[in-house]
Amino acid sequence: MSSARCTVLLTFDFDAESSKEARGLTSPTPISQGQYGARVGVPRILKLLARYNIRATFFVPGVTVERYPDIIQQMLAGGHEIGHHGYTHISPLKLSYEEEREQLAKGMDALQRVAGVRPKGYRSPAWDLSNHSIGLFKEFGFAYESSLMGDDYHFYRIGDSNDSPGLVEIPISWLLDDFIHFEIVDNGAGISNPSRIYELWSEEFEGAYEEQGVFCLTMHPQVIGRHPRIRMLERLIQFMRGHAGVEFMTCSEAVAVWSASH
Ligand SMILES: [Zn+2]
Repeated sequence: MSSARCTVLLTFDFDAESSKEARGLTSPTPISQGQYGARVGVPRILKLLARYNIRATFFVPGVTVERYPDIIQQMLAGGHEIGHHGYTHISPLKLSYEEEREQLAKGMDALQRVAGVRPKGYRSPAWDLSNHSIGLFKEFGFAYESSLMGDDYHFYRIGDSNDSPGLVEIPISWLLDDFIHFEIVDNGAGISNPSRIYELWSEEFEGAYEEQGVFCLTMHPQVIGRHPRIRMLERLIQFMRGHAGVEFMTCSEAVAVWSASH
């Protein structure tokens, strides 16, 4: 990577209501849980990022872009990147080729129409890809995607072939996702003490630092937005900034730097 010894990517999947709706959870409580992300989570996150002059990446489904154009404008005004996160937050594995293509096209259209943004990257709402996904990413011209788990601290290339170049993968991990640590989900994970997650994440960062790689966190405004958690994130930011040669970037910035030397 550049002169940076370690790159930090703070990424936020701003789903709002869409992740609940896509699972058929449309009664008032789950919907309000999604709305909490917009009402409470995002403002706290944007304030924190501004205080430390950090630019982050928000992956946003098209329906959320259409519902919250003002929030998207605030993100852009803060210098943050907006990435593609599907249209209705439905898993690509549940879709035919035509339906998956339509999701990508409608998500792209929402971002361009509402925010004037042509996203450079994609993250699957299901953290999984179909057999068609990579071909579609090439067609839509994405420079990177971030849904796979084939490495921890290093980018790699996917979908390269003789006749067409593929794209850069920004690997993710359940360990580095706030949702399974802090929310009750179907598989029985629970509500963790933030200090325990601080321990897990800071030790992961030290691994990335030692390998001169990339430390990428995935967070959700409706999850990380609560006070004890956002304070934990602030503590982690301070810890990471205390290391020489650490640079916070947006995903597309980090991909551009990496691609220049690979
Ligand atoms: Zn999502």
